[in-house]
Amino acid sequence: KDVKLASVVENVCSTFEAAFQRKNIDLITKLQKGIIVKAQEDKLIQLIINIVNNALKYTESGSVTVSTYMENDHAVFEVKDTGIGLSEEDKIKIFERFYRVEKSRNRNTGGAGLGLAIVKNIADAHGWEIEVESDGKSCTTFKINF
Ligand code: ATP
Ligand code: MG
Repeated sequence: KDVKLASVVENVCSTFEAAFQRKNIDLITKLQKGIIVKAQEDKLIQLIINIVNNALKYTESGSVTVSTYMENDHAVFEVKDTGIGLSEEDKIKIFERFYRVEKSRNRNTGGAGLGLAIVKNIADAHGWEIEVESDGKSCTTFKINF
């Protein structure tokens, strides 16, 4: 089904507003209107929730920037945070079921380690590519290339 990417992202982000305020982290959206993607809408929503939820959960201060834009011939959904970062090794392992990075600061945040395994399942089922970038200590960017 054809889905309006910016609208779906906007709706999901609005449900996160209170949670961001509570943690005093800025939620910034940069959404290019008019981009249509082919997706099972409920799955796309789940993917967005899981990635934004992680950005909030693994960021102690600063901001999370959610963007949608066109890159060459494909649409992009991007979430950039100013959080704890990810090492090169963990960048691959985080998509495995039940994998959680062993960091002391991770112990007091609950979680099953399933969110990104679900994201990977959804992306694979649609043929979308996932990209992760991090400096290893203070920021992480998740990108979905449609
Ligand atoms: P849940 O099942 O509730 O989502 P979870 O958040 O621990 O639990 P995933 O969403 O699969 O599980 O993420 C796996 C691990 O990847 C996390 O435990 C965390 O260590 C790391 N991670 C995910 N997103 C980020 C991020 N934005 N910044 C830093 N680390 C992250
Ligand atoms: Mg998660």
